[in-house]
Amino acid sequence: MTERLYYTDSYLTEFRALVVERAEGNRIYLDRTAFYPTSGGQPFDTGFIAGVPVVDVIDEGARIAHVMASPVDSEEVDCRIDWRRRFDHMQQHTGQHLLSAVLAELFGIATVSVHFGAASSTVDVNTPALSADQIRAAEVRANERVFENLPVNVIFADHSDEPELRKASTRAGKLRVVGIQGLDRSACGGTHVRATGEIGPVLLRKLDKVRGATRIEFLCGSRAARRARADFDALSRIAQALSAPLDDTPGLVISQMEALQAAEKERRHVEEELGAAQGRDLYQATAADSRGIRRAIKRLPSGSLDPLRAMAQAFCLGPMAVFIGTVEQPPAILLASSADSGIDAGKVLKAVITEVGGRGGGTPRMAQGSAPSGAALEKALQAII
Ligand SMILES: [Zn+2]
Repeated sequence: MTERLYYTDSYLTEFRALVVERAEGNRIYLDRTAFYPTSGGQPFDTGFIAGVPVVDVIDEGARIAHVMASPVDSEEVDCRIDWRRRFDHMQQHTGQHLLSAVLAELFGIATVSVHFGAASSTVDVNTPALSADQIRAAEVRANERVFENLPVNVIFADHSDEPELRKASTRAGKLRVVGIQGLDRSACGGTHVRATGEIGPVLLRKLDKVRGATRIEFLCGSRAARRARADFDALSRIAQALSAPLDDTPGLVISQMEALQAAEKERRHVEEELGAAQGRDLYQATAADSRGIRRAIKRLPSGSLDPLRAMAQAFCLGPMAVFIGTVEQPPAILLASSADSGIDAGKVLKAVITEVGGRGGGTPRMAQGSAPSGAALEKALQAII
């Protein structure tokens, strides 16, 4: 059985231990360890054992396995955990206890699961929705509790003594109970800071709905400060682009988007009018063939068929008219005809575009389709002509 030094001292970073066993895959077992194994949602510690990097730490129940980057030969080893990584985990983990306690205190909402990620962490709470006001209130309260610098302590209690916990523990026997003075008591095997002040700032971010629960993303300590800096940088770039004060940007972005949508609508309208005028002119300028049909082909190098549609419609308002439009990239084709031309655009286009491996169709007067390649488009075009 491995003695878990982190149970009683989360701040222990250097220790000496005996290697009691070695296993396949560079696994070693120590008589005692301060390396935290992945469990309870908290990721494992990294660091060095006898100068060799620790790449994973696994909780095997009674024992803890240390997976090493290369073999460790010594019997007695000097060990050092990566304190930056560990302390970050302690900030997130204690912050989670605090946040869960505050959500229970303010809104009677229970935490159902927890996840600690490399960039941010989440708690899932048993409510289908949380309002922006509730999130703000929880963030304010959590930070107030941080400023109060409440002591965080660890006690061992027997399950049968029924220690009053925020969330009932399913474990039997001895429980490790982590308390935040006057606020919370939770059964937990993780590593925590010794007072809430060390959690640092608590930042609540996005909400997601997850199977009837709500997932709250949160960051504590240095992560919160780094995130706030990144948010500020991003907002500053937007403000700079808009030549506006930072706090005015949300309203400005919305009004700019509305202006853009209105301009786009206007542009389409003008494009249609232009297309219609071009279609009428083109009809006048096109000579009829031996069968009396006026046939026009309009080719665009790229884009969509949209600009050609109004032109095709206007062209085919005249009698005995057939209009073919193409876009080279992505390969697409449009066919329109006047009723007296005797050509069913939908049928003709569907037949030729299917023949070259493309898809398409439409009404007897107007049809369009897409071809798998430029060569296929050309083949379809030749078949129509
Ligand atoms: Zn914990």
